[in-house]
Amino acid sequence: MFNRPHWSYSSVNQYLRCPLQFYFQRILRLPQPTVGSGLVLGSSVHKALEVYHRSLQKQKPVKADRLHRAFLDSWKERESNSTIEFRKGDSREDNIAQGISLIEVYLKEPPPESIVAVEKEMIFPIRNSLGEYLETPMVAIVDLLTREHGRLAITELKTSGRSYGSFEVEDSLQPTSYVTAVWETFGEWATVEFAVLVKTKTPKLQRLPTVRDESDLGRLGDIVQAVERGIEAQAFYPNRTPLNCSTCAYREPCENWKASKRSRCGDTTHGQRMAEVSQC
Ligand code: SF4
Repeated sequence: MFNRPHWSYSSVNQYLRCPLQFYFQRILRLPQPTVGSGLVLGSSVHKALEVYHRSLQKQKPVKADRLHRAFLDSWKERESNSTIEFRKGDSREDNIAQGISLIEVYLKEPPPESIVAVEKEMIFPIRNSLGEYLETPMVAIVDLLTREHGRLAITELKTSGRSYGSFEVEDSLQPTSYVTAVWETFGEWATVEFAVLVKTKTPKLQRLPTVRDESDLGRLGDIVQAVERGIEAQAFYPNRTPLNCSTCAYREPCENWKASKRSRCGDTTHGQRMAEVSQC
């Protein structure tokens, strides 16, 4: 997408969650033998809703069966490129049925109006709390950008096995990166809402609005700067938690990992390292 070195929310967040997983994926670029069914379901629902939003933007709304097809096409594409790992008691059929019902839940909502952009890609500078610009910019892809009551509004679509708590939205760096992206691109301060499609027995949609201010943007820059220092210092270590590890594709290399092994980036410059990590 963007050829120059850059950060993204997912790369920063991956380092914060597990620096070793970050190292395996973005520095060593180890192949991922499997991909979790939850990820495939999420990206396929996402693809179908992108088709929906684009059709609304063109004022030619598509029917539900077209969206079901988009979901299935995306699922099959992932299936042909990788091995999907299912949780115990989970199956392909269950996931496909669940994906379709999540799309149906979304379609029951009033359709978004005044769509400004769908899947809007932006590359933008980040500043720390001292107001200093960082050398490496960030990229963001906003799922849906609309104008509500004269203000730009960002909608971030999620699929989740459980309802979100408000702290997950308040504390997340993702809305902060989006607000920064819109500010630097459009010169306007945007609101953010997480639209969470929850995969409960009876699927539901949770809407969680959140706001960010100047200090949040500075904190994002401070965190990215701290992550850059961690990479410079080759601070790549495992962070074992059930949440991190249950879906990790690198469980085997993680078991074999030794701290004394020299990192591949041991002889590289900062610029080279950023180029390595930025393929996200
Ligand atoms: S298995 Fe867990 S600790 Fe090891 S790399 Fe994966 S997420 Fe990190």
